[in-house]
Amino acid sequence: AVVARGVEKSFGSHKVLKGVDLRVEYGKVVCILGPSGSGKSTFLRCMNHLERIEAGFLRVGGQLVGYRQHAGKLYEMRHSEVARQRADIGMVFQSFNLFPHMTVLQNIIEAPIGVRGIPKRQAIEEAMTLLAKVGLTAKADAYPRTLSGGQQQRVAIARALAMRPKLMLFDEPTSALDPELVGEVLAVMKGLAAEGMTMVVVTHEMGFARDVGDSVVFMDGGVVVEQGTPSEFFNNPRTERARAFLGKVL
Ligand code: ATP
Ligand code: MG
Repeated sequence: AVVARGVEKSFGSHKVLKGVDLRVEYGKVVCILGPSGSGKSTFLRCMNHLERIEAGFLRVGGQLVGYRQHAGKLYEMRHSEVARQRADIGMVFQSFNLFPHMTVLQNIIEAPIGVRGIPKRQAIEEAMTLLAKVGLTAKADAYPRTLSGGQQQRVAIARALAMRPKLMLFDEPTSALDPELVGEVLAVMKGLAAEGMTMVVVTHEMGFARDVGDSVVFMDGGVVVEQGTPSEFFNNPRTERARAFLGKVL
């Protein structure tokens, strides 16, 4: 499972995460909802140690994120260990962040070859399988700038999957897209969920959270205010804060 306990994070004197608790079983999809500034992105960044936390811990499959325990004490991992750990945790951002000077195929095989040490021929084979999965076989030799936003985001997902992650983190993957391109990206994510990928998805797409999420987490003010099944959350929000949020977004 993926576990967060009492995670705290500040920027200067501004405490953004005030003790976040969360549990995601393997193979499940958790959607994180919440108002702007509630700490969703910060929390996701903590999950692969892009941010250093100040209290609490995060575990992915028994392994502490960013730290190792020795004789009862915690030590921050060396950069190389963090990199190795991150290879197991795929992340897809709002902005697609593809390497502009590389083709789609080169974007996808770069890290598997460079970080995982997978032979080039095999990396290409796997990349083509992933491109077929996201419906972009014909774009293997295209450059990112020639693709639509939806296509670029599907490449970004394929690139993350090429590392064979145990866990996929998505931070508002469709927020930067024109409305007509949102569906194709959500469809790819839905397919991934159906294959049993463990996913943590920060999203404003309530339909996706309702249909694909195994559970919904509502964050506000740096804490998890509610966690439940989508039907519990959308039909019977327990807190006034969640009701107010749903009143605005639904
Ligand atoms: P949104 O829905 O708008 O994406 P969010 O829930 O993802 O919001 P965060 O991006 O995690 O919110 O930001 C939470 C708070 O932390 C905000 O007040 C933000 O200004 C602050 N913050 C985030 N990153 C930093 C940073 N690197 N330095 C200083 N403050 C930051
Ligand atoms: Mg955010």
